Amino acid sequence: MNKEIKYCDILLTNGSVVTVDDERRVLEPGAVAVSGNRIAAVGAPEDLDHYRAARVVDCTGKAVIPGFVDAHTHMFQSLGRGLGEGMSLYPWLSEFMWPYAQAISTREAWAGVRLTALEAARAGTTAVLDDHYAPVDLETTVGVARTIEEVGLRGVTARGIYGRPAEVTRHYDIPDYLFALTPEEELEITRAAVEATAGRRVSVWPSPDGNFIERELICDSVALAHELDVGWHIHCSAPQTDPAAYVSCYGERPVEWMHRAGLLDERAALAHGVWLDDNEVAYIGEAGAGVAHCPTSNCYLADGAIRLRDLRAAGAVVSLGTDGSACDHRQDMFEQMKQSVFVQRLTTLDPTASHAEEALCLATREGAKYLGIDAGVIAPGKLADLAVIDLNRVHLQPLNRLVSTLVYAARGSDVTMTIVGGEVIYENGASTKVDEGEVIAEARARSAELIERAGLHGLLSPWRERPDSGAGGADGSSSR
Ligand SMILES: [Zn+2]
Repeated sequence: MNKEIKYCDILLTNGSVVTVDDERRVLEPGAVAVSGNRIAAVGAPEDLDHYRAARVVDCTGKAVIPGFVDAHTHMFQSLGRGLGEGMSLYPWLSEFMWPYAQAISTREAWAGVRLTALEAARAGTTAVLDDHYAPVDLETTVGVARTIEEVGLRGVTARGIYGRPAEVTRHYDIPDYLFALTPEEELEITRAAVEATAGRRVSVWPSPDGNFIERELICDSVALAHELDVGWHIHCSAPQTDPAAYVSCYGERPVEWMHRAGLLDERAALAHGVWLDDNEVAYIGEAGAGVAHCPTSNCYLADGAIRLRDLRAAGAVVSLGTDGSACDHRQDMFEQMKQSVFVQRLTTLDPTASHAEEALCLATREGAKYLGIDAGVIAPGKLADLAVIDLNRVHLQPLNRLVSTLVYAARGSDVTMTIVGGEVIYENGASTKVDEGEVIAEARARSAELIERAGLHGLLSPWRERPDSGAGGADGSSSR
């Protein structure tokens, strides 16, 4: 029977298509037709031979997967890549990240964001939640969202909200300058930023930035998210000390309070959620709230291991995030997938605690749910957010089992094409959207200026430990 001729914009054909759809189909070979910003059809190449495409991409020897969702990153931090080695979270914040955040200018933040977005696009990431907390004026915040768009990604700029120090703040060595705006100013700027980006590829959400700010401001931020019909974001219990400080101050744990205050629902996008008790896991699960798991960051800062199986069994939407280049060092979701499995296996001593298929789901379809975007799977009608991976690389041979190879052996630099909403934003070694040489040159120059101005040059020491300090320099004799 002759099929009716159909037209599409891009036809990716003869690749191995890992759909991550409801049936978890892997088509070897498969084809994907893209029409406008959506996927028009998926199937075996012969099933789609009636499509006439403006552009046919032969994907022989390549994998086609849903684009990755980086559910928690801090793009402005990339100018500090490599600094702050060997610290736990709060020294890392007070000696490195907070001075960095205090000193960074609008232009520097945009340069860092542009670099990070470019790195992500090159590694097959199509959507991000960028937790942006410095500087947080309206112009910078909206400019951050626009910069991510310029590079071609979609997603959210979550505007960090601090307001006034809270009772719990004194448990931390948090500098006053983070609390520069009144709660009213915070909410006003956030509202304006959300409205200025409504309906765009990258929109702004409120991000009351952790459980160390005033509870009332967290509640008001969540109310604003509801009013403006967007999600909201918060750092939640990454280090063990966070719930401990909360209990000593308020007599209850952070997620217990958020549950009791009625804040948890599907709009809630929590970052980390490492230290949760059974009740907190149940509350997050019942609410269908999101948790961005950042395994590499949790290892780097020695925070701990998330209760992945418990959270997912309870109903939480668990996604994966890099947590930014300052504590992850790479915007590479392949690394997150691998680490998410390894962290579970190592801490449970159970090799069945997680697996490659689960990691790929977290990085794609669960990430899309977390961000509330109609993507994350390769299925007709979904947004055409896709990554194409070269399977002919030496480190991927012999290719016996595709999903395991993608999760454990592949890396961001194996991506040859990234497509967002039907638009090719990266192809064969170059961004189609920005001049990579200019992005890199600007980031280098602005990084040097920023490190100097922030007084962080002490962190540049080429070798951190003294040769006589023993294994790993664990005597605290760092040169910082
Ligand atoms: Zn973070």
